[in-house]
This record gives sequence, structure tokens and C-alpha cells, in this order.
Amino acid sequence: MTRLFNDPDDFAAEMTAGFAAASARWVRAVPGGVVRSTAAAEPTVSLVVGGGSGHYPAFAGLVGPGLAHGAAMGNIFASPSTQQVHSVAATADQGRGVLLSYGNYAGDVLNFDAAQERLRTAGVDCRTLVVTDDVSSAGPQERDRRRGIAGDLTVFKVAGAACEAGHDLDDVERVARLANDRTRSLGVAFGGCTLPGAGEPLFDVPAGRMGVGLGIHGEPGIDEADVPTAAGLAGLLVDGLLAEVPDGAGARVVPILNGLGSVKYEELFVVYGAVHRLLTEAGCEVVDPEVGEFCTSFDMAGASLTLLWLDDTPGELEQLWSAPCDTPAFRRGRDAGQHAVTVPGGPGAAGTAPLPVPEAGPGSRECGTRIAAVLADVAAALDEHADEFGRLDRVAGDGDHGIGMQRGGRAARDAAADAAGRGAGAGTVLRRAGEAWGDRAGGASGAIWAGMLAALGTALGDDTAPDTARVAAGVSAAERAVERSGGAAVGDKTMVDAIVPFHRALAARSEAGDDLATAWAAAAREATTAAEATRELRARLGRARAHGDRSIGTPDPGAVSFALVVRTAGERLREAAEC
Ligand code: ADP
Ligand code: MG
Repeated sequence: MTRLFNDPDDFAAEMTAGFAAASARWVRAVPGGVVRSTAAAEPTVSLVVGGGSGHYPAFAGLVGPGLAHGAAMGNIFASPSTQQVHSVAATADQGRGVLLSYGNYAGDVLNFDAAQERLRTAGVDCRTLVVTDDVSSAGPQERDRRRGIAGDLTVFKVAGAACEAGHDLDDVERVARLANDRTRSLGVAFGGCTLPGAGEPLFDVPAGRMGVGLGIHGEPGIDEADVPTAAGLAGLLVDGLLAEVPDGAGARVVPILNGLGSVKYEELFVVYGAVHRLLTEAGCEVVDPEVGEFCTSFDMAGASLTLLWLDDTPGELEQLWSAPCDTPAFRRGRDAGQHAVTVPGGPGAAGTAPLPVPEAGPGSRECGTRIAAVLADVAAALDEHADEFGRLDRVAGDGDHGIGMQRGGRAARDAAADAAGRGAGAGTVLRRAGEAWGDRAGGASGAIWAGMLAALGTALGDDTAPDTARVAAGVSAAERAVERSGGAAVGDKTMVDAIVPFHRALAARSEAGDDLATAWAAAAREATTAAEATRELRARLGRARAHGDRSIGTPDPGAVSFALVVRTAGERLREAAEC
């Protein structure tokens, strides 16, 4: 239960501001998150981490000398937007390149990848290492599909120490990859978390039972079992992890017992005592253990065990893991940060001047105004259906699809109205709406909608009023953009299942000579039927993948919301055609 908040919509922003005020010794707030408030004596490679908020001390609490240089901070449980990641990384860059590192979640991957593209285009050498420590989220043959949970800490710490030691980007990436290869985690949940202002937890676990293989966004466990004793839990976690010792690992191991948000330290110590004993009995040498909160899931009741497997003799990994660091939430060694100097405050969260609107032809301007009106209707429809989408996403995802679409829809509505009011053409109105959507919504769907609106906007342009064929071509471009960025195909149970039939029907009707309103309405009906049909599918991508079977019987939230958006737009097009 989250008791202390003001307006729930402002929670993440107010939390960030308070955190920065309390942690000025280490960090300063910049648009999109925080960067270090200190500079090292010599420029180094910069490590930028991130993800949604709600996981403290991941991610902002790990910024400081010896660890990360910046953290992109999304809304609660929603990945940061592309612009947030880009802003933090561009500010943190010291001219020696940037390593982006984060948990392997669809929304994070989409947004960090897009930010990486932007940085590379601007000439910044940028690499990515996704953390994939959660053994419960995919089998050993599919390690690249696993989620990142508390193992974030080992990867970030090793990479941050390598940056501090002056390694070049190739080498920082290499050791980060090694740390990830040698890190495994497994967790359990006794109860779900309740987001600020929400009336109920994201999921429930029956009394006396626990979810095994938890996610850190309120995703329920993969299996369920009776709650064991502390020693029993230690046995389950240690056995689960000893079943998969990484290739090349020695017998020396760093255990990290992590509380998920509302398990007491004292309880964790009771469990840890048994973990330590069991590891030793299994022939492991325990090195430098940690017990506490390192990656939480709001106020979720649960715990996870992470093992970082070292070499048989103290070597590179161990040295980097135990090197000094000084951050708000994780410190070690006495001389960490001793050479760091506080840098004067850089750009704060100050507003920027509105972007100028490019010249547009009169037909395109008129169309821009109509698109702004469509987006206002879409925002209203998304407001109305937010709870329903949240419920659908809660079945096998993290429950935030309603809030995400609502935030994105409202931001798109406002940006479109602003651009149209300043005489923008159709293309610019859509592109600005897409940027605003992506920036405010975060998450997988935020990045996808941002990409779709941008592709459609580019295809429509600002010169003339687009005809049906150009709109159909624009929708095809949007569909290709989704498939390119997200890699989903029809049948994976994502919004692609609704987008593909929509674009095909629109293209066919347009070729047959239908007017836009008629063609669009027919295509929207196809999208609605296809979205409903995803009910039968098993999720193969996105957050829902780890709970694939659970998703059977419930349609994909992103497909259902896509169908609502195109239906709503269709109604406005019909009204416009009638008058
Ligand atoms: P998140 O998954 O980051 O919490 P949302 O809950 O807002 O984001 O959106 C979830 C929806 O995003 C899913 O229902 C699915 O339709 C869509 N989605 C997830 N991953 C992909 C992908 N790779 N390609 C296309 N759509 C995706
Ligand atoms: Mg979600």
C-alpha cells in the first residue's frame, strides 16, 4: 500500500525532485533523470543505466563515483522515453563513449535502442548491454530473452568500476558482458505491489502461497508454491541457481539477497544465514556478500537471490566488483570519489522554447487541424478505457497499459493542438504528436505509438492534403516501423496482430476506390476482430511472454487499444465526410 503521495500523476516527478534534493552530493537532476554532480579527474567512458521508477535504489540510487554516470528515469514501471534516455546520455557523455545498460524489457529495449541510434548519429560511440539474470523468465538456451532483475547491480558495478579505472569503451562493454554472463537470479513474491493512488495491488497471491519467479513490475510469479520457512526459501533459491552454474565459473561466488520492497532486513538476514550455509556446503567460497534492497518493485513483498560467479582465483571480475564506489545507495571503500570535484549545476529541468513549425500548404494545414481533432477524440476514448486496458495488461503483463496509453494520448492531443494552432501541416502535427506520446507514455506501447505516428507523419508530409492512397501508404509505413523496431510478427500476440490486418484492409479498400472514411471504417472493423482474436493466442513477445500461458483467454492489451484508436479516428472521419 502506498500511503504518501499528492497527485498520483505527479508521483514520479515529485519523487525525482525530492531524491535529487536529498542527494545533491552525488547527483543533479537533468531532463529525463539524473547525472553525477561530480566530475572525475580525467574523462572516462560513461555508464548510463535506467528503467522505470519504482525500483529504488535501481536506478538513480546507483549514480556516483565508481558506479553509474547517469540514470534515465521513466514513470513508475514504464521505461524512460527515447528522449529521456538520450538527454541523460548526452549530458553524461565525456567524449569517450557511452555504455547503456538496463533490464531486458520490451519498452526499455525500444527506447534505449532508439536513443543509441540518435547518439551514434551525433557521433557518440554508444553500446548497449542488457541485463538478463532472471533464470525463471526463459530457459538456458534462450538467455538473451531473460529479464533483468537484481542482477542489474553486479553488471552496473563491474561496468562502472571499469569506467572509473579508465578502460576504453570496448573493454567496459567486454567486462559488463562477462559480469552478465556470470550473473543469475531467482526470486519469489508473497504479495503484489500497489501503485500510488491505485485501489488494489497489481496482483494477489493467495494467503500462505508465494509466486516463484517474480517480475519486478508487479508481474506475478511463473509458478506458485506454499510459503516455506526461511531456511526452506533459502534452499529453493540456492537449488534453483546451483542448477545453472555459468560456463567458466569457478567456485567463488558473490551472493546478493535482495528485498523487493516490504520484506524486513531482519527477515532477509535470517534467510541469508541459510543461503550462506547452503552455498558453503555445496563447495562454494562466498565472497563479499550483500543483503538489502538493491532492486525493488515498489512495496512488493518478496525476495530474490542473485549469484555473481567469480573465477577460481581472485581476478578481474572480483577486483571490479569490490572496487570502491560512492553513490546514494551503494558505497564501498574509503577513498571512492576522493578525486571527484563537484561540478556547477548544469541545465536543470528548465523548459525549452517551442519548436518552430515548418511552412505548410493550405490543404495540409487544414488536414493538420482535423488530425488534431481526431487526436482529441482518441485521448478522450483512451481516458474512458484506461481501467479496462490496465486490467487486460495485469493478466500477463504489468498493469500499466491503461495509464501509459492515457498519458500518451493526452500528450499527443496537446502537442497536436499546439502545432495545428501554429499553422502546422498534417505531417508536422503527427510527428509532434508522436514525439509527445513517446516522451510522456514510456513503455513498449509508448515507443511503438511514437514510431507509428512519426512514420505516418513523414509519409503525409506538409505540402498538400493527402488522398486515400497516401494515407494507406502512410499506414503501411507505420506498420513497417513497428515491425522493424519491435521485431514482432503476426501471431506473437502483440498489437502487430491488429495493425497488419488494419493496414492490409485499408490498402485493399483504397485500391478498390473507396473514399477514406469508408476504407478506414472497414479497416477498423478488421482491426477490432483481429484484436479480439488474439484472445486465443499465447504471448511470445513483450512483458507478457514470460507468462505466455496465463495470457491465453485474454486479448492482447496493445491490440485492443490499437483497435479502439482506429475506430475512434474512423468515427471522426465519417462525421467529417458527412458534413
Ligand atoms: P510495457 O509492456 O512496457 O508495460 P504497455 O503495457 O504500455 O508497455 O504495452 C504493452 C503492449 O505493447 C502489448 O500488449 C503489446 O501489444 C505491445 N508490445 C510489446 N512488445 C511489442 C513488440 N515487440 N512489438 C509490438 N508490440 C509490442
Ligand atoms: Mg504494461
